[in-house]
Amino acid sequence: MAASQLAKDLFGGKELPSAETAQSIGFYSKGCFAGGVGLPLDGPTWQVMRPSRNRNWGHPAMIALLERFSRDAVADGWNGLLVGDISQPRGGPMRTGHASHQVGLDADIWFGPMPSTPYSMAGREKIGAKSLLRPGTNNVLDERRWDPVYARLLKRAASYPEVERIFVNPGIKKKLCETVTGDRSWMNKIRPYWGHDEHFHVRIGCQPGSAGCKPQQGTGTGDGCDKSLAWWFTEEPWRPNENPDAPKARDLMTMASLPKECGAVLAAPNPPSMEAATYRGGSAVAAAPAAPPTTIGGEAPAIPVTASAFAPTPAIGVPLPRPRPGN
Ligand SMILES: [Zn+2]
Repeated sequence: MAASQLAKDLFGGKELPSAETAQSIGFYSKGCFAGGVGLPLDGPTWQVMRPSRNRNWGHPAMIALLERFSRDAVADGWNGLLVGDISQPRGGPMRTGHASHQVGLDADIWFGPMPSTPYSMAGREKIGAKSLLRPGTNNVLDERRWDPVYARLLKRAASYPEVERIFVNPGIKKKLCETVTGDRSWMNKIRPYWGHDEHFHVRIGCQPGSAGCKPQQGTGTGDGCDKSLAWWFTEEPWRPNENPDAPKARDLMTMASLPKECGAVLAAPNPPSMEAATYRGGSAVAAAPAAPPTTIGGEAPAIPVTASAFAPTPAIGVPLPRPRPGN
């Protein structure tokens, strides 16, 4: 591959994860991951939105968490999750959208429940997410659109030990600060950020087995209803960009910008099929065996495919993936 090729094109062109042991490499906004697992486009308690983007991939721990969260959310009175972007099959920078979501440990969840009649594949490409903000504002909650179920949903998401941060619009954080009673410790993980008025962004920490995963800074202590939140209600965060035409980092990154192990992830073999790399419940994932090891002249496999990420696991009612639209 040409050294000058953009990483977003190389990673954005991958249709399947690498058939390797799962590990995240690098940082949320500068990295990739091996051994990714796909979240089925339809589950009993979730739907993947914008399926044609092929961003329903993540570290197995992220995918397992989403499945569990979707079940718990239903118990909390939320009719299933609409799951937005997770990551590309091997992570890395994307051609459009996010700066982060590169290491398989980030997922966007829409602030809207699954409808009682699930969205069609075509509908999921078109239907827009609804903002919780007063129209025309950056950070002012539209009180008519607020529902306490959002607080329950965010609390549930924050309850999982692997979740380190959840990004929401400052207006949503402020509403929690004003209304949550009782235990507020979970609010430490709820962090204000630009956007995130139509969806919230769940970020889990580096997982065991990912020596090259770079953790983010801790969130400190306290509920975050302090001057760090007050800053979002000053003029400073909303000043127009002084240099609006400056290229974004993801538009400049070449493979040299990423950890060198990401080159190997890019070159690693595919699993035998999309199904083989799709979550089926349990701790890992797929029902199909791993790709047959490459043997050259009777030598040992050139690229050993370890069993852990692709070992057969009993199905627990998570359906087989449906074909992607257009396939
Ligand atoms: Zn996000």
